[in-house]
Amino acid sequence: MTAKILEVFRSIQGEGPYAGTAQVFVRFFECNMHCVWCDTPASIGDTSRKYQDIQGKDLLRQIESLYDGCHSVSITGGEPLLQQDFLRAFCPALKRARKRAYLDTNGTLPDALKEIIKEIDIIAMDIKLPSSTKQRAYWQEHKDFLKIANRKEVFIKAVVSNETSAEDVLKAAKLVAGIDPGILFILQPNYLDMKNGIIEQCAAHQKSCAKILKDVRILPQLHKFLKVR
Ligand code: SF4
Repeated sequence: MTAKILEVFRSIQGEGPYAGTAQVFVRFFECNMHCVWCDTPASIGDTSRKYQDIQGKDLLRQIESLYDGCHSVSITGGEPLLQQDFLRAFCPALKRARKRAYLDTNGTLPDALKEIIKEIDIIAMDIKLPSSTKQRAYWQEHKDFLKIANRKEVFIKAVVSNETSAEDVLKAAKLVAGIDPGILFILQPNYLDMKNGIIEQCAAHQKSCAKILKDVRILPQLHKFLKVR
């Protein structure tokens, strides 16, 4: 079986509690969402960058050649869970090769997660706030997803832009608190709004979310500052 892969490369994780660790990134093609700020346009239909069809054994070989000293393999996209059939076969192979699987996902495909959760070590789950993404809300999908993800190590990222409503942020915090108030909740300021008072807005959101969650942090995307992929 093959996967549609945009790129495989080694870099530094720029988001969340594992920021700064070395990872091999496997960027899967295509996404089921169209967030306005998406920085991987090839994932959402830009055909100017072509994907490759890669066999599992060849993908593993590429990972092995880049992995020395890495913390884990970032399975990212796009939305990797769209290719759940491939992942169902590939993730056990990754485990047999003694590589940690770090799944970076938009958190909207709970049925697909259920199929591979056993093989995943860490889940970096987005909660997509409709006022940020300009997409429809995915509250129910996120709730179902997080219940499954919480069987493993999971943390939440919510991108905050100048368009983000306080109501959406609080709704996301309540959703997480309803499942487990100890889950790390990260407010990620949109890089494009960094000069527009976004940190002050994040600080206000942090204050209100911290009333119902134990660990709420503001963390920007480190890789944008380091100017790496
Ligand atoms: S979920 Fe991620 S990959 Fe998909 S459109 Fe949104 S930002 Fe882009």
